[in-house]
Amino acid sequence: MNGFFKVPSPVNEPVLNYAPGSKERKDLKDALTEARSKVIDVPMYIGGQEVRSGKTMDMRPPHDHQHLLGQFHISDASHVTDAINAALAAKPKWEALTWEQRAAIFLKAADLIAGPFRAKLNAATMLGQSKNAYQAEIDSACEFIDFLRFNVNFMSQIYSEQPQSGKGMWNRIEYRPLEGFIYALTPFNFTAIAGNLPTSAAMMGNVIVWKPSNTQVYSANVLMEVFKLAGVPDGVINLIYPSGPVAAEVVFNHPDFAGIHFTGSTGVFQDIWKTIGNNIHKYKTYPRIVGETGGKDYIVAHKSANVDAVVTALVRGAFEYQGQKCSAASRAYIPSNMWAEVKEKMVKDIASFSVGPVEDFRNFVNAVIDEKSFDKLAKYIDEAKNDASCEIVAGGTYNKSKGWFIDPTVIVTSNPKYTTMCEELFGPVLTIYVYDADKFEETLELVDSTSEYALTGAVLAQDRYAIDMATWKLRNSAGNFYINDKPTGAVVGQQPFGGARASGTNDKAGAMINLMRWVSQRTIKETFVSPERYEYEFMKEA
Ligand code: NAD
Repeated sequence: MNGFFKVPSPVNEPVLNYAPGSKERKDLKDALTEARSKVIDVPMYIGGQEVRSGKTMDMRPPHDHQHLLGQFHISDASHVTDAINAALAAKPKWEALTWEQRAAIFLKAADLIAGPFRAKLNAATMLGQSKNAYQAEIDSACEFIDFLRFNVNFMSQIYSEQPQSGKGMWNRIEYRPLEGFIYALTPFNFTAIAGNLPTSAAMMGNVIVWKPSNTQVYSANVLMEVFKLAGVPDGVINLIYPSGPVAAEVVFNHPDFAGIHFTGSTGVFQDIWKTIGNNIHKYKTYPRIVGETGGKDYIVAHKSANVDAVVTALVRGAFEYQGQKCSAASRAYIPSNMWAEVKEKMVKDIASFSVGPVEDFRNFVNAVIDEKSFDKLAKYIDEAKNDASCEIVAGGTYNKSKGWFIDPTVIVTSNPKYTTMCEELFGPVLTIYVYDADKFEETLELVDSTSEYALTGAVLAQDRYAIDMATWKLRNSAGNFYINDKPTGAVVGQQPFGGARASGTNDKAGAMINLMRWVSQRTIKETFVSPERYEYEFMKEA
């Protein structure tokens, strides 16, 4: 096919509001009822085949753990090997397919999610991961649609990036997919990220072995249905469910391992990096290591800040999706001049939250992902209750009788290095340190040096000198920095997302820089009239 094809210009997918009486609300409620009425059996997908091991794990809504949604088939080492072989078998045809055909597949996937699969995918995310309707809509619908459409656009921009050519020659750059397979290892908390990690690399001509989190398999299964319908060929994306270590043993010892696209916790990523380092002599190529990991995201208010804006940033930034966003505010620094007012308004807002199951649309806060997370959060809360430097000013209660419910909790500490100011908890727990309102600069140094992470952070101030100082002093403390806003809610194409320090390699999901990691350039120089003698002019006698 001849033509320099232009891909459709991407526009962020509009967020539907699910107001009473709307069509989307009815569709979503119907999809929830339908999903709850069935117990499904989820296979692995290897080379386009549905594979069942017979050894299964249950899938249950975190907010209703007695209800069974279905089970999935656990993979062992042989399935990991089969998935790698299926990927490598699919590679020659996939990498030879022209780019516009690949682009069309992923644009079609975006349209399927925007249209006929929107309610089903959102319902699966709501039930499997305990997200309310709005949180599911901005994740599994809008963000994933944006990832797909913007990435296709970035792909075409990358391919059109070409070098200069001197006289008598033509220089070209070919953007080859990596030699081997890519391992996509994805987290529970965003269906969009789970979908983006395999598709971004596949779009660039790579073949994928995808292992999702056990607590996201329910919506991953819907994504596979979409990929198949969109035309992703068999074997290009293979979905398996081994434990992390079982997969690691096979994947990181394989000579054709060409890269990992990871999002998850810092400890897991650091172990993976070490394993890859120890095995480096086994690979045919240096693997690409891309990982977005944990955070200890902050809000720092200046004494000039608007109090209502501070309160809203705190409650939205810390508690939406139960604080289980990598970007969620989990430590805050509030100046003494406004603390009494911030406290009063924040506690009032939190008292107005309703906590409960996602099927009741009035609930703002739902359950945390699983019992392990529940127990960990309950322990942190209990320790804070017994610590002389801490006071719990909101929440502090939890109940696991029906679901993994942790009430939104605010700890106020007089110790700015208290555990919950430093460690990632990944739940609806915010810790606040009240600082002397005249010590803003010292507090910025504290913010910068308190945690090993550097994912997101926010400063709230009216004073422009304060904003300028914070922007400079905190330049290495966050890969996504917000001024007068909450530190969550990055939008694809608008705020490319990723952090530094222990928070990841900062290869910005949904950005050109990320897609660049999944290609290897071949420079081609063609000379039109080739020299036919080796001697140069300077060698001639005068
Ligand atoms: P996780 O690290 O527990 O799991 C991520 C993936 O790794 C899952 O597929 C899991 O099964 C697998 N895994 C777990 N233990 C493993 C091991 N020992 N070896 C190999 N694989 C293993 O993370 P999670 O709980 O699913 O997600 C939450 C974490 O992800 C938080 O730390 C959060 O900050 C981070 N996160 C970061 C970003 C970002 O963009 N920086 C985005 C979302 C989530």
